[in-house]
Amino acid sequence: MKMMRTCFLAYAGLIALLILVAGSATAQTHQHAEASKLTTCPNCGMVLKEWAHTNHEFTNPEGSFRTCSIHCVTDMSQKSVTQAKEVRVALHLQPEKMIPAETAVYVIGSKDPGTMTQVSKLAFESKDAAEKFMAEKGGKPGSFADALAVATQELPKAKPMIQTNRKNKGKIVDPVDQDRCPVCNMVPARYPNFNAQLIMADKKRFHFCSTQCLFEFMQEPPKHGASTGDVGDVWLHDHVSGRYIFGKNAYYVVGSKVHGPMGPEAIAFDLKSEATDFAKANGGQVFKFGKITPAAIKAK
Ligand SMILES: [Zn+2]
Ligand SMILES: [Zn+2]
Repeated sequence: MKMMRTCFLAYAGLIALLILVAGSATAQTHQHAEASKLTTCPNCGMVLKEWAHTNHEFTNPEGSFRTCSIHCVTDMSQKSVTQAKEVRVALHLQPEKMIPAETAVYVIGSKDPGTMTQVSKLAFESKDAAEKFMAEKGGKPGSFADALAVATQELPKAKPMIQTNRKNKGKIVDPVDQDRCPVCNMVPARYPNFNAQLIMADKKRFHFCSTQCLFEFMQEPPKHGASTGDVGDVWLHDHVSGRYIFGKNAYYVVGSKVHGPMGPEAIAFDLKSEATDFAKANGGQVFKFGKITPAAIKAK
């Protein structure tokens, strides 16, 4: 009898423990369900589920994010001068499952393509799973830190290459002389360092002479000829390199003494450090995309 009672107590304890574990798992699932509401990569605009096998989740001082790839994790870290924490990665062969990146075995440079860059970095749950994959597809095993180091090293070459690919695939289209800014009617092609473009959710593309007109347009797109209010990708120029960058994850200096086609502009930067340096030299304040209003731009 005593034996039975001990057994029962141990059993009850085990159940309680299981409930506790299940509770924290539910909380975690909920947290990740929140993240999955975001359907596009905040760093490059690609549809996350199309690249599910290389998705990563992480937090940094700017928030919690889910990106298409480890490339976008490193790019966001470099841009914001922050370190990605609590990183989770989707399994290459079972993308609906995400595990802590620290525990994953990455296969670097196999025949299976990755996302964004040429050297794929694919995650597996165990050494055995990675070895089985490598026997067929090649590549080298590594830790999350190894994959991160490769992705970071690639950045300077990968970024211009990605921009060329975007142009080749028609994601970014240079404005032609016939294009008119829907806000001021000027010719965006005449302002190659300041023009911007926006693709609406219905795929219609608008070219703007400047960021001032872009942000004015976004206040009320249908007022300027859009059939929808849903804004998709935004491409504009990094003030330092002149290269097209993803506008929704750029840094902007508003209120500086540097003016553009419409006078005061939100001057765009790929890197936060360069935006900060620019503001120190030219005045103004650094903002992220979602915090900018046309009124704030025109205030100076
Ligand atoms: Zn991305
Ligand atoms: Zn304009």
